[in-house]
Amino acid sequence: MTRWSRTVVAVDGPAGSGKSSVSRAAARALGFEFLDTGAAYRAIAWLGLERGVDFDDSSAVAALVDELDERVTTDPDDVRVTVGGVDVTDAIREPRVTSVVSAVARVPQVRERLNEHFRERLDAPGLPGIVAEGRDITTVVAPDASVRVLLTADESVRVQRRRAELSGASTADVTRLVVERDRKDAQVVDFMTAAEGVTTLDSTSLSFEETVDAMVALVREAAAGA
Ligand code: C5P
Repeated sequence: MTRWSRTVVAVDGPAGSGKSSVSRAAARALGFEFLDTGAAYRAIAWLGLERGVDFDDSSAVAALVDELDERVTTDPDDVRVTVGGVDVTDAIREPRVTSVVSAVARVPQVRERLNEHFRERLDAPGLPGIVAEGRDITTVVAPDASVRVLLTADESVRVQRRRAELSGASTADVTRLVVERDRKDAQVVDFMTAAEGVTTLDSTSLSFEETVDAMVALVREAAAGA
């Protein structure tokens, strides 16, 4: 029995697996909301950079959560992120934020606070379901979600996909970025292997549309079997 008031679809996976774009498109197809949990970690990293915080100082990073007034919208057609009313939707994707976000994600107090916040969002009144993506949604945030998916792809494919997003970057540079961030993040939560009961969706040889269709099919199958 699930404790959620609506259908919760939990999606985890490494950098470049397509988690965000696939989850968003699946949410749209299902008529569900979409929660990008990485955006909250990125919002804290952005705030820390604004404040000139030393990211090696865990207590200084933890203190940022207390002053964080962050909003992440859950409309798959219009995902916007604000911090203290400032629109940071694009700013949180900048390389300077990506390079420090793992230092935010490893602070336990940050994770605990954000996880509480994510659970409230998942359970909030709204559309009949919500697709949430991140690194620990299937295992920590919502291990009792209706559907749990680990979205993977071979490293070379993930690097190529990321490279297409970062114009001008070399394959060697992007490989370093992707591998290094996964290595740091994997020290905090395991998102490379599926936990028990989690379905692995390997998108290595699937197109974007095929991957979205496969995710939507998993949700419909679960609904039919429920
Ligand atoms: O998914 P995205 O690349 O935007 O996530 C940014 C960072 O946020 C990750 O590299 C990771 O450090 C952290 N994160 C996390 N747990 C989540 C989602 C993101 O630790 N559920």
